[in-house]
Amino acid sequence: MTDFGFEVGTRLDGRHGRTGVLTTPHGRIATPAFVPVGTKATVKAVLPETMREIGAQALLANAYHLYLQPGSDIVDEAGGLGRFMNWPGPTFTDSGGFQVMSLGVGFKKVLAMESVGVQRDDVVAKGKERLAVVDDDGVTFRSHLDGSKHRFTPEVSMRIQHELGADVMFAFDELTTLMNTRGYQEKSLQRTHEWAQRCLDEHERLSAARKHRPYQALFAVIQGAQYEDLRRKACRDLAAMRGGSGTEFDGSEFDGYGIGGALEKSNLGTIVGWCCAELPEHKPRHLLGISEPEDFFAAVENGADTFDCVNPSRVARNAAIYVDDGRFNINTSRFRRDFTPIDETCDCYTCANYTRAYIHHLFKAKEMLAATLCTIHNERFTIRLVDRIRDSIDNGRYDEFKAEALGRWQGSRQPH
Ligand SMILES: [Zn+2]
Repeated sequence: MTDFGFEVGTRLDGRHGRTGVLTTPHGRIATPAFVPVGTKATVKAVLPETMREIGAQALLANAYHLYLQPGSDIVDEAGGLGRFMNWPGPTFTDSGGFQVMSLGVGFKKVLAMESVGVQRDDVVAKGKERLAVVDDDGVTFRSHLDGSKHRFTPEVSMRIQHELGADVMFAFDELTTLMNTRGYQEKSLQRTHEWAQRCLDEHERLSAARKHRPYQALFAVIQGAQYEDLRRKACRDLAAMRGGSGTEFDGSEFDGYGIGGALEKSNLGTIVGWCCAELPEHKPRHLLGISEPEDFFAAVENGADTFDCVNPSRVARNAAIYVDDGRFNINTSRFRRDFTPIDETCDCYTCANYTRAYIHHLFKAKEMLAATLCTIHNERFTIRLVDRIRDSIDNGRYDEFKAEALGRWQGSRQPH
């Protein structure tokens, strides 16, 4: 008995998309669902109660950040992530793999500019130090906070995520980019599979040792970049994988699958489709890191059930606002005397009570409330969009809703 399950609801005709219900020890998630990100166990500038009010069904935190600060042992002592941050609903943590290799490495910052557009496997710019080194056993990296040296292996990631205690965890994988060569992608995929097996074994062992805690589900992560054969093989191999810990959980499967890694916007739907054609129907599928309306439609109709992204709150702090008619910046002077809400059709607290002129003023005056009000709106916009996609599948009018929503989104990048 694991208290974790997934049930498929309405299927989208002729495609992999579906609605469903994901059950966790901390509650249910109606899917498709957007999962807002609270990197360090907080959605920046917003109370957890407010996240609940705007319809967030679950939150995702980052294992890498919480491992460095305050330490996963402290979160464990607090009773797990949800209790620590006063969020009673379901929680997710990522494996830390993405952050150790992107933040640790200084990935984007140290890319050599002359290598853009060229496939190479070692693209550190001249004069910059590589801050993370991957080997077959794990990753050694330096903290982005204080430069201290750390090492993540599949077993370390599992221990950290069990201590954090989220309902859904992800297997530790290697991050590659579209710039890596095909040869490197193959080698990396093999490594990610070996790590997936080690994660599953360690997860079984920790689940048996920590029976005083609610069951935590483990999702495998599918890599393979833009290569169809690699993506499909990764899905088949991970779906067939079984744990071998010798504990009472021995022989268990992954509880779900995360679709990760290098994805170009133009082929996102195609890649999700390849994966979902291979993955078992009765297991949930999470797509890591998307937040734009086009991407949600592409991902949902090709079979993804849940998504996370830090963008709605990150861009809100820079005065960027999402509405049905596109994205705009509330910081520009034309809003100085605009006494209408951000979006008259939005049901969020910000739109019910505040004007564009006031929010514009808060940004100009560098007031903290600006971030709070804009984050509330952007998170509500994103959650509500995915909720409307889910309803449209259940009501048999997905294609109509998609045409209408994308028509408005792409038709105008400025509000009236
Ligand atoms: Zn709003």
